[in-house]
Amino acid sequence: RLHNTVQELKGNIRVFCRVRPILPHDRAAPGAKNGGLAKMDFPDRESKTIVLFDGAQESYDGKTSTKAHEFSFDKVFSPSTSQAAVFDEMSQLVQSALDGYNVCIFAYGQTGSGKTYTMEGPALPSSTSRMDDSAGSAAQKESCGMIPRAVAQIFQTAQRLTEKGWAYEMEASYLEIYNELINDLLGNGDLTKKHDIKIRPDKPDEIYVSDTVSVKVENEMQVFSLLNRASQNRAVAETQCNSRSSRSHSVFRLKLTGRNSITGEFSEGILNLVDLAGSERLSSSGAQGDRLKETQAINKSLSHLGNVIMALANKQQHVPYRDSKLTHLLQNSLGGNSKTLMFVNISPREESLSETICSLRFATKVN
Ligand code: ADP
Ligand code: MG
Repeated sequence: RLHNTVQELKGNIRVFCRVRPILPHDRAAPGAKNGGLAKMDFPDRESKTIVLFDGAQESYDGKTSTKAHEFSFDKVFSPSTSQAAVFDEMSQLVQSALDGYNVCIFAYGQTGSGKTYTMEGPALPSSTSRMDDSAGSAAQKESCGMIPRAVAQIFQTAQRLTEKGWAYEMEASYLEIYNELINDLLGNGDLTKKHDIKIRPDKPDEIYVSDTVSVKVENEMQVFSLLNRASQNRAVAETQCNSRSSRSHSVFRLKLTGRNSITGEFSEGILNLVDLAGSERLSSSGAQGDRLKETQAINKSLSHLGNVIMALANKQQHVPYRDSKLTHLLQNSLGGNSKTLMFVNISPREESLSETICSLRFATKVN
């Protein structure tokens, strides 16, 4: 191992909570107090705790106060936290994929809470710009999300490690799980073609997905071009099925195989970055027909993901990976010698308060 990361001492599952800022289009409902903002506090300086007030009154010892819900995580990011500051807290985790660990980073939360902003940013870097050169505006670079930052860091570090004899081969894939069906975001654009999870007879541990594209990449620009291709494919699918992208999980995966010509060492790690489907419950989306089926598939796979993470945290004998496509696909990257980070993204809007509390409860269970 090249780096003995702090995560090893702290266990392999961490949860970060991120609150997105209030946006101009978050119009307050008529009569809403506080400009439509939920009342929340970040009491400790270490920012590991968030307190929400739901407006209900509570009596204790003859005193009446506003009911408070307190949640603690490995980290709580307030709305003013920059993408760079968020990435700082996970860069070691990204690093460990080069050291041969399997890493999963998830964004969980209701639609509109900032999952895609956290993972990708408001816009993807173009396929001709590098994170560290002068092309592209400074503002665009500042707002880049975790995927482009992780990719840039991996190539920079791999470059530095060549001095120590390491040479890496990298392969990228990008899949979508929609209604419990796997689609290829790097394919020819046809997101209706189904792909199955397969297991190699000779290597039962190795999970692969039939007929999906896996691209050898040599620099960050090549990866950015793949991210842009995926985004185009998603945009096309979106016109055929409204808000499909927030109703599906997307799994970006970078497989890193390293060989050291000096020491003869070998390492194989996988970095998975997963933008999960919106976690909102059935009642609030008023679902019917296809929507109902979709929502049920989402709720089921999110709760299966929670069950798998909890089973791992509790060191349970049986981990129910096969209960959903998402956990089956990620089987080798969850548990065992692997590291997991979950972002729970929340919105500051008052109307979102009950979904926010649900998300925080889910995240507390897996933490
Ligand atoms: P989700 O993917 O969870 O549905 P988005 O990432 O699309 O949510 O975020 C919803 C809106 O909020 C978008 O307009 C996004 O640009 C904005 N947003 C989310 N998080 C932030 C943030 N930290 N800073 C600024 N804008 C944000
Ligand atoms: Mg999204």
